[in-house]
Amino acid sequence: MGLDFSLATPKAKKPSEKGGPVLYDLIVIGGGPAGLTAAIYGGRARLTTLVLAGTLPGGETANIDILENFPGFPKGINGAELAQRFQRQTERFDAKIKTDVVTKVDFSEQPFIIQTAGKEYQARTVIVATGAEPRRLGVPGEDKFFGRGVSACATCDGFFYQGKRVVVVGGGDSAVSEAIFLTKFASEVIIIHRRDQLRASKIYQERAFDNPKISFAWDTVVEEILGDKTVNGVQVRNVQSEETSVIKAEGVFLYIGMTPKTELFTDQLELNEWGYIVTDRRQHTSVQGVFAAGDVQDPYYRQVVVAAGTGSIAAMEAEKLLSDYPGRY
Ligand code: NAP
Repeated sequence: MGLDFSLATPKAKKPSEKGGPVLYDLIVIGGGPAGLTAAIYGGRARLTTLVLAGTLPGGETANIDILENFPGFPKGINGAELAQRFQRQTERFDAKIKTDVVTKVDFSEQPFIIQTAGKEYQARTVIVATGAEPRRLGVPGEDKFFGRGVSACATCDGFFYQGKRVVVVGGGDSAVSEAIFLTKFASEVIIIHRRDQLRASKIYQERAFDNPKISFAWDTVVEEILGDKTVNGVQVRNVQSEETSVIKAEGVFLYIGMTPKTELFTDQLELNEWGYIVTDRRQHTSVQGVFAAGDVQDPYYRQVVVAAGTGSIAAMEAEKLLSDYPGRY
């Protein structure tokens, strides 16, 4: 996919919220660490910059209890607080943040068109930083009890399980770190994992194995979430013995990985087989002038620090493109 530069002659126009479509040098779609870092760099480069941040700026970071590996915070920092700091820093450089959900994009010609429910925007360059969302199990009871015993956010819902027994599904960093977090409230936390070895980092594994409130159901998959008005257990199957049983629990926390949020871009940008946006090492997508950063193009690292790093690269590349080709963008 490429652009015909001969057609790309947008007229410069100062962004204004009155009247028709508004042309920005840079529109960032997504308000997580990648998007907000991109906007900080865009703002500091004096690009007219707008962040369309979805319903809640901060992205998945805002759901993390404590980040211990984001540099500069030796004691760790709460995810929601870090997200707020990103926002304040973005606004300091005159980048505008709007809590607005993008409903449609058109990257087929310049300027790029971005629509939200009530407004149409135009952009010379775009950075897609829509992130990834928690994957679902797809078992009976999951939808019915979501928000009534089933959750993908221990930080949001853990408090409701004081003195109760909960299960956590998954074996990665998220499952194990959030299981440890849940022991602040729950009387017992059972980690249900489909294999007999955790994927999580060794430091989380050690902490979980040392925690007397945490136990494990190895080689086990959840087949159904059970309950009446709220959850009272999960039906599980041991994949070695094929035996099924019920584990009683009042809460089910799902941490089985993420799915990239790329629905809007399926016919606009090249995606890989798992639906992630394909980028080169400088965050360029298949359309010149459109960049992607953060978890939406990263199935491997999914770290706040990596997302922020790719956001900064994308913004620097956008700035370079705008200054290298004045008039084309
Ligand atoms: P993840 O590393 O992809 O782990 C997903 C876990 O869910 C795996 O254990 C996987 O099992 C299991 N799983 C996947 N599909 C399943 C299914 N249908 N049924 C049952 N189990 C299923 O995802 P994550 O834990 O969300 O972590 C994502 C990224 O964020 C990782 O790079 C991680 O390092 C990072 N992260 C870092 C921190 C931190 O504090 N540094 C915290 C959270 C996340 P298998 O192991 O068998 O594949």
